[in-house]
Amino acid sequence: MELSKLYDQKEPKFSFEVFPPKTDEGIDNLIGELNKLKKFDPAFISVTYGAGGSTQGRSVKVIKRILNEVKVTPLPHFTCIGSNESSILDFVKVIEGLGIKNILALKGDPPKDQADYSPENNIFNYANELIAFLKQNTKLEIAAAGYPEVHPKALSLDDDLDHLKLKVEAGAEVVISQLFYDNNYFYNFVERARQKGITIPIIPGILPLYIPSQIEKIIELSGTHLPEDFKRALNDSQDNLEEFKKIAVDYSVKQAKELLEFGVPGIHFYPLNKAEAVEKVLLRLK
Ligand code: FAD
Repeated sequence: MELSKLYDQKEPKFSFEVFPPKTDEGIDNLIGELNKLKKFDPAFISVTYGAGGSTQGRSVKVIKRILNEVKVTPLPHFTCIGSNESSILDFVKVIEGLGIKNILALKGDPPKDQADYSPENNIFNYANELIAFLKQNTKLEIAAAGYPEVHPKALSLDDDLDHLKLKVEAGAEVVISQLFYDNNYFYNFVERARQKGITIPIIPGILPLYIPSQIEKIIELSGTHLPEDFKRALNDSQDNLEEFKKIAVDYSVKQAKELLEFGVPGIHFYPLNKAEAVEKVLLRLK
């Protein structure tokens, strides 16, 4: 279903985000994990994309297998750094050829260890430029990224929301948010976005912090801030994995319930390619 119609309905929509594994065996495992999450009737499964097309082959492989084997609509991500008009249109041709109607249009992060990545063929500097190009040249409906805790390169929330508005004016139908753990950031983000005249659905992102060794990396990559109580509870249970997992799931359940009470039209989960944590959360929400 097109993004513009998806969040019109009464029931909130759940969606999942995955990244393409490096090997075929990894992709087989991912498909197995997604089959466990299928029972929650996801609105879509989004598939990340490496800057400059570094994961394109694997992203397309995963998209095709989600479509054919999991039988859920995939939402391809696409990043504009390192892309030009023809590489964008080549990718669009592939996904439109699969019958896909939506895309998550992003600037993209430079490849790891290349913070000064500056590809020669860069034509599009910001996601709003990619969105405008996609709107002019394709029939795809478009999701854009939003940052309740402010994008790391933005000067302020106000500045970041002005740029979000450019993405909406360029044609984005939906905003999908970066993960966060303190709902107050999200409530404030939505309120300030509405004040700026951004009226499209804004979907919060939730990532259950289920594996102790991943926490530092997740915090670093997303720039999120954990509420002190939650941080302390996780720290105190680092040596007791079962307790740690329970705290993580309880927290995500509480976070999701509060967001649903607030009236969000959907929640985008980040399962990190494993079903278990999100499955536990969704079983308790249903
Ligand atoms: P933009 O909207 O272009 O914003 C980037 C920065 O520039 C912000 O600070 C913004 O305030 C500023 N800015 C925006 N427009 C302008 C303008 N016109 N003039 C001046 N400043 C401007 N990365 C990947 O590489 N692959 C993925 O698959 C991927 N998936 C993601 C999914 C979600 C839901 C989210 C939230 C992020 C994802 N990312 C992914 C990360 C994302 O690519 C980075 O956060 C990137 O740095 C910003 O992307 P954006 O599309 O939000 O960029």
